[in-house]
Amino acid sequence: MIAPLEELVELLITLPTIGRKSAWRLALHLLDRPEEDVERLAQAIIDARKKIIKCGRCFMYSETDLCAICSSARRDRSLICVVEKSSDVLTIEKIGRYRGVYHVLGGVLSPLAGITPDKLRIAELAKRIAGEHPAELIIGLGGSAEAETTAVYLARLVRSAGVRVTRLARGLPAGMELEYVDQITLGQALNERTDIHYEEQD
Ligand SMILES: [Zn+2]
Repeated sequence: MIAPLEELVELLITLPTIGRKSAWRLALHLLDRPEEDVERLAQAIIDARKKIIKCGRCFMYSETDLCAICSSARRDRSLICVVEKSSDVLTIEKIGRYRGVYHVLGGVLSPLAGITPDKLRIAELAKRIAGEHPAELIIGLGGSAEAETTAVYLARLVRSAGVRVTRLARGLPAGMELEYVDQITLGQALNERTDIHYEEQD
């Protein structure tokens, strides 16, 4: 009926966690806000999208070619923690205990959904391992079946490079994504990580 309003609602619905009801509430709220507030919000979205790129090494969001973690002299480059997405890096960083670096995979393997190794940043990880010779790869992918498949795939992949492959300790609830795990559990899981013995799972 009011075309621009409906257009706004339809666009808001495409955002994660926003259903039709929330989209309408947000759209009507925006209409009531002063015009300059809405302009600032719109500009902030455009700026973030334009200025934030992905780190050329770990693929975490960054303002510079190399992110703050990759370019820090205080991080231990012999430890690479493999995570699904950029927000997982922020989740682990919040605990403040991990001193290694990361690799953002961009998802987990799910052949049925068409997520094959070439869809993830696995080739980039293999290249990093060949160039950086880390001592340990920590698989921080959460507790889903797809995460497990991915962990075993990665363990096999780096086998010949002589890299120790560990996963976060078993305390993580099955099927749970990292962002929903409380900080104490995640901190413990990080400290008490275990080696992946993939031969046993054949
Ligand atoms: Zn980085």
